[in-house]
Amino acid sequence: MKVLLIGSGGREHALALAISKSPVLTKLWIAPGNPGTAACGENAPLDPADHRNIVAFCQRMGVDLAVIGPEGPLAAGLVDDLERAGIAAFGPSKAAAQLESSKGFTKDLCRDFNIPTGAYERFSAPAPAKDYIRAKGAPIVVKAGGLAAGKGVIVAMTLNEALDAIDMIFGGAFGAAGAEVVVEEFLEGEEASFFALCDGERALAFASAQDHKRVGDGDTGPNTGGMGAYSPAPVMSEEITARTMREIIEPTLAGMKARGAPFKGVLFAGLMIGKHGPKLIEFNARFGDPETQVMLPRLDQDLLALLMACAKGQLPEAPVRLKAQTALTVVYAARGYPDNPERGSEIKGLELAQAMASVTVTHAGTKLDGGRLLAHGGRVLNITALADSVSQAQANAYAALAQIDWPGGFFRRDIGWRAIAREQDKS
Ligand code: AMP
Repeated sequence: MKVLLIGSGGREHALALAISKSPVLTKLWIAPGNPGTAACGENAPLDPADHRNIVAFCQRMGVDLAVIGPEGPLAAGLVDDLERAGIAAFGPSKAAAQLESSKGFTKDLCRDFNIPTGAYERFSAPAPAKDYIRAKGAPIVVKAGGLAAGKGVIVAMTLNEALDAIDMIFGGAFGAAGAEVVVEEFLEGEEASFFALCDGERALAFASAQDHKRVGDGDTGPNTGGMGAYSPAPVMSEEITARTMREIIEPTLAGMKARGAPFKGVLFAGLMIGKHGPKLIEFNARFGDPETQVMLPRLDQDLLALLMACAKGQLPEAPVRLKAQTALTVVYAARGYPDNPERGSEIKGLELAQAMASVTVTHAGTKLDGGRLLAHGGRVLNITALADSVSQAQANAYAALAQIDWPGGFFRRDIGWRAIAREQDKS
């Protein structure tokens, strides 16, 4: 099977590693890819926004399946364009990707199909939004309605913060993503990410993870794309997983079908697990980054066959097979991230880290310059370890990281702390 994988981050390197192990793969291209993905297949210098060129490439090369990593091309309708040309694609159509690209769309779906989530209201002007906030009081959550690269959410602990957030979003801080604002009830509990594979009709539980969004140790400082993660999320017990499938994922698939936009691909539910069980915070319409880096090392079957089954509407009945181990990843970021990451510093010693047992190093923002590997983004590397416990996975990931010689980088030193505390409580 010939596969084209779209994207260039750590998520795509993790996907490329898993796909490259498939017994049915004959050729893998990654577009545009990164220096890490080049070792799993062939990087193709295609622009993900140039749909016509991507379709032409697939036709010329006889690509059997296109796998779309990031949300941008999904929201822009790349899957629609590929399928119109008869090319199978893993990922939702533009209409189905609204589950991520429009918070208002998702909240309305939750209301209509009885999916547990926070109470909310949608607004297209500041005055009524402020009235609603004053009536509800703080804490309260204010969200830009569109795609804002994970930055359009303000969890306001005071009334003034919430009112300022309304002015900021309608003032254009997030561009077109802020044309609509969703104001939402503040949910309490423990957050977890849950992933289900979907073929338009059915969903199959895939795996769970938890990430660390804040830049600093102890979950302090500004939000980032994610500084580390681990899988599974201990809070996702069998009971909570079953409830998530029954109360959130399955009604969503039924609702999307009823709306004429069946969802195919991977549905990534951001959950708050509280006293009354799981509630939906948000959906994403693709794999997470860095969650993918910790879920895929646990997969104990062929990923490519599963992705193709989603694309063809033929998901198997059998549960996904996962190793009972924990994977933990630490993000190695460029100094100055998230505000102003420094580019161009040299990274050495990756081979030493990679050579360690059960350790995987994936590239995100790296670049090759002659023979030198340089930092070329905010989140630059992910160091992932698979082990029998969270504490062992953490120890192994940090031991591997210590082999890397990169004075221009920094990382959090406490990835997994909550899961490790839980593990120690039990023993
Ligand atoms: P989102 O981009 O919607 O996942 O939101 C980013 C982060 O804001 C989430 O990971 C939560 O930590 C927080 N958040 C979003 N919505 C809520 C809510 N209704 N209640 C509490 N925290 C929330």
